[in-house]
Amino acid sequence: LYSRGVRGSFIPPIRSNAANSGNTMSSRMSGKCEDALEDSTKKCLEILCGPDGELPEKLRNLEPRLIEHVSNEIMDRDPNVRWDDIAGLEHAKKCVTEMVIWPLLRPDIFHGCRSPGRGLLLFGPPGTGKTMIGKAIAGEAKATFFYISASSLTSKWIGEGEKLVRALFGVASCRQPAVIFVDEIDSLLSQRKSDGEHESSRRLKTQFLIEMEGFDCGNEQILLIGATNRPQELDEAARRRLTKRLYIPLPSSDARAWIVRNLLKKDGLFKLSEEEIGSICRLTEGYSGSDMKNLVKDASMGPLREALQQGIEITELKKEDMRPVTLQDFENALQEVRPSVSVNELGTYEEWNKQFGSLS
Ligand code: ADP
Repeated sequence: LYSRGVRGSFIPPIRSNAANSGNTMSSRMSGKCEDALEDSTKKCLEILCGPDGELPEKLRNLEPRLIEHVSNEIMDRDPNVRWDDIAGLEHAKKCVTEMVIWPLLRPDIFHGCRSPGRGLLLFGPPGTGKTMIGKAIAGEAKATFFYISASSLTSKWIGEGEKLVRALFGVASCRQPAVIFVDEIDSLLSQRKSDGEHESSRRLKTQFLIEMEGFDCGNEQILLIGATNRPQELDEAARRRLTKRLYIPLPSSDARAWIVRNLLKKDGLFKLSEEEIGSICRLTEGYSGSDMKNLVKDASMGPLREALQQGIEITELKKEDMRPVTLQDFENALQEVRPSVSVNELGTYEEWNKQFGSLS
């Protein structure tokens, strides 16, 4: 059995038998295989090797190109988000700190009765900061962050999703502590497909649950975070494994004010009074964090458009030629940027939260 390499070259599979002498990184590198592997792939594998030069057991059966894909595309070396970047969500931050960050920082204290759950579900409307929370957890807990969208496993990696999942959990176990963030987890662990479920997506789901079971039982320092806008589609098996389920709601008025101030201040464009900020908050009831970001973007185009209308050429335009962003800019932007979540949808989340959410 031979598989295709990164640029279509054939790569012999890595044999699974640990006792096999041809299995060490150095011997694999010195034989014929060396020619077949791309330099970048070799580098990836080398980094994952133990001090003895051996590739960890979990990675030995896997195709190098999948390991490379996980290391280069899914693993984020610098998630670069801190708690302070996230507006509001105090309740979620507090729960996550206790449940996830402390155990990742102090595994010696969090065992036995205090052993943490390994699965966390963040659910709620789109654009409310679920991904930001995942990244912040990795940053605060000094963990490696892996991000994958479950729908890409079923669409982009057709027929290979299962192998990629194994590679993902395999690389994560070499990079502990690790946080695996699975966006749109409903498309992987949905209950709907049970009857006419496609064989390959059923296998993918099984593989995923097996991997989760594996690190849940062991002493691995791996946390799985699933995010979804459709929690009602998760089945019982998924809920059982995602023991903590936190509702991430739309931002409060204070949080919306914070997002506006923060984004404008970053660019030195903030000159609004408290009353004006108050008006923006009243006008943006029902906007998500991501809607607010789009609104600020659109509003901040106001001064630029005005300067250009006055006849200044874009190539000649200086920052000083532009006035600060005003309430009127926001009022204009509100015509363009509408809230992306409907009131009906909110009811569904609140119902699900009452039934399955972790309220404390
Ligand atoms: P989700 O994963 O819930 O769909 P994201 O975390 O990807 O949403 O948020 C998308 C963008 O919206 C972020 O990059 C950020 O700019 C903005 N955003 C959303 N929620 C917040 C928040 N609570 N605080 C600050 N910015 C936010």
